[in-house]
Amino acid sequence: MAVDERMRVLMVSMSLQGHINPMFKLAKHLLSKGVHHVTIATTEDGRDHMLKNTKPSNITNNTNLNNSNNDSGMELVFFSDGLSLDFDRSDTESMVNTIREKGPKNLSTLITDLTKVHNYSCVIVNPFVPWAIDVAVEHGIPCALLWIQACAAYSIYYRYLKNINPFPNMDDLNEKVHLPGLPPFEVRDSPSFILPTTPCHFRLVMKELFEAMDKVNWVLGTSCYEIEEEIVNSMASLTPIYPVGPLVSPFLLGEKERSDISVDMWIPEDSCIEWLDTLPDSSVIYVSFGSLIALSQKQVDNIAVALKNSKKAFLWVIKPSNGESNHAPELPNEFLEETKERGLVVKWCPQEKVLMHPSVACFITHCGWNSTLETLVTGVPVIAWPFWTDQATNAMLMEKVFRNGVRAKYGEDGTANVEEIERCIKDVTEGPRAEEIKKRAMEMKELALRTLQEDGTSNNNINKFITDLIVGNPARA
Ligand code: UDP
Repeated sequence: MAVDERMRVLMVSMSLQGHINPMFKLAKHLLSKGVHHVTIATTEDGRDHMLKNTKPSNITNNTNLNNSNNDSGMELVFFSDGLSLDFDRSDTESMVNTIREKGPKNLSTLITDLTKVHNYSCVIVNPFVPWAIDVAVEHGIPCALLWIQACAAYSIYYRYLKNINPFPNMDDLNEKVHLPGLPPFEVRDSPSFILPTTPCHFRLVMKELFEAMDKVNWVLGTSCYEIEEEIVNSMASLTPIYPVGPLVSPFLLGEKERSDISVDMWIPEDSCIEWLDTLPDSSVIYVSFGSLIALSQKQVDNIAVALKNSKKAFLWVIKPSNGESNHAPELPNEFLEETKERGLVVKWCPQEKVLMHPSVACFITHCGWNSTLETLVTGVPVIAWPFWTDQATNAMLMEKVFRNGVRAKYGEDGTANVEEIERCIKDVTEGPRAEEIKKRAMEMKELALRTLQEDGTSNNNINKFITDLIVGNPARA
């Protein structure tokens, strides 16, 4: 495909691991198809975090901060979220409200500077910076949304916030929701940003996003058509979503990495891959709750006892706390000593490489959408343990649509107890149920891998997006 060699794309994201990873992955696809350059604008606290928590050489080697003379075709640039760098961003209300107020001006100043030197064909935003849509429009640059959750979550938000379908009383978590393209599900499995119990500042993000949707020329999704076919079809007559995923690293799709560019908020402990190399196939339980979830002491204790009782090998990621008010819980006394022959606890791991490893038997996951996609393309069975935002929706998809795992049931204290974790581990690793789940996980893997091949649906959607950019007259549907 011939692409104007000056074609540049600007992406805007908060500096959160789960937000920035899919932007990077889309950038790599665009560059591999001839887009000349991708600039990723994110908040300055992300640069500060990376400088403190990863090796500075890692950042400069891999990401070429503020340096457009690199051969990767990608650069990271930064704007202020309006808060000082030492502000404790686990105060989400101040963080969300301040970036909403100060972010537009700061991003606009950055775009003014960038456009003095280059033209941009498009600004791609993700859902958590809805105000960036107006900034792009003010600068006269066409705007695309990269929806970084399941198409199912897009459909639920859209239908709820735009009053397309009747919803039950959302105060009652047991009520059933019936929507096109989805099996009936309980209110508790809706994305939490529409639930009345969710703090206002989070609900406002989605409300403002869907209000701004008419100014967006394209809605791309990190999912793929093959795994969410009915849901994607059900949105076609409303505001269609064009899946371009699974947006995971190329090596998960059997391709060679174009370069090793990545943005890690913590240094991945690569030694865990060598440790996995020493273990038999399908023998290790991998446990991780992503980059934001902070487990309670009770949850850590329950997982520790269940892992110890399982007698199986495990790799457990317990990442450092995100902010001052967010203390990391401690592992029970003696746990590390008692399990040292078969267990490894790390602060951060190269998750995609871990999931690709033949030793991994199953994944106890919080069901973040990136982690969900990574399990689908690697065929790893899951134990779904969702917390908030879209995670319960993803758990519902895993249980009822993908059927690639089991879901942990919570007791009255709102969490899974030891016996329940043990039951889940048994169900996904032993006996006929485990075989059935593994078979289904491998079927999902095959479907997901097909979609980015030459004639695959996601590949076609990316090509169409680039063609629209070349024509410079992007049509909405
Ligand atoms: N991740 C990683 N190492 C870890 C844990 C997570 O590289 O030890 C990556 C994971 O592969 C995924 C991202 O961090 O791409 C987490 O995104 P997700 O949407 O699953 O969850 P979030 O962190 O946004 O809650």
